[in-house]
Amino acid sequence: MLLPGWVWLVGAGPGDPGLMTLHALNALGQADVIVYDALVDSRILDWARPGVEVEYAGKRGGKPSPKQRDISLRLVELAREGKRVLRLKGGDPFIFGRGGEEAQALVQAGIPIRIVPGITAGVAGLAYAGIPATHRDVNQAVTFFTGHDQTGDAPGALDWAALAKSSPVLIGYMAIKTLPSISASLIAAGRSVDEPVAIIMDATLPTMQVLETTLGRAAEDLAVSGLEPPAILCIGRVALMRQALDWIGQMAGEAPRNLDPLGSGERDAG
Ligand code: SAH
Repeated sequence: MLLPGWVWLVGAGPGDPGLMTLHALNALGQADVIVYDALVDSRILDWARPGVEVEYAGKRGGKPSPKQRDISLRLVELAREGKRVLRLKGGDPFIFGRGGEEAQALVQAGIPIRIVPGITAGVAGLAYAGIPATHRDVNQAVTFFTGHDQTGDAPGALDWAALAKSSPVLIGYMAIKTLPSISASLIAAGRSVDEPVAIIMDATLPTMQVLETTLGRAAEDLAVSGLEPPAILCIGRVALMRQALDWIGQMAGEAPRNLDPLGSGERDAG
């Protein structure tokens, strides 16, 4: 139960309302006020209790987004007014969503919180494109990274040589603008120009589009594709699995392009 004076930090999932959790749905039915982000699909707010107050905390129409500190302070204020506060964030609140900062501010202010995880775009986006984030023989590790730091540039804090060597699959959030520098860094660190790449825009939504390319061509192909954020970047041989597992295409009547894209063959057949 979402009680008066509490704040629930809730992941709304990547877009498709069916990917919300039951805890998220319950919170929507109980909240007095919902503070939501740009990446929360409007259909999700349709589940809210009638008469609920809704506050938008994201960027809109080119106006600068509210400062993170202002959002945290607003949450504290609403809780102190005795409201049942639902802080709804896209995907998972603790994956590149600044949920940790908001939660910390609330705890520091003595406000009781509950965290409700959501399905993160880096996992769901791949799944909707028919790409498993891990696949036996391909990767025993997967890395989530963000394509920009607070300066908006490709993050200098990332050790691309170490990532190139240690992580066969790399999943990039907010990585569209800095894709040219990301792909150049990985190639310079030894990853092949032919390595498969998938870029998934509007993942899980009816407007979803998937660009299949390679590390060497990704930046150029992206530029001509017209794809825009939000998009998830998937670098690694698992991206080829889409040739077999594009289940959305298959629902629309397409045949799989390749039944064994990774050449794992009949290994388990006998
Ligand atoms: N907390 C969110 C991520 C927020 S960062 C989560 O767990 O998913 C914002 C980035 O998430 C976007 O730039 C994009 O890279 C990714 N993203 C979020 N929703 C997306 C969607 N529906 N399709 C593609 N990418 C998405």
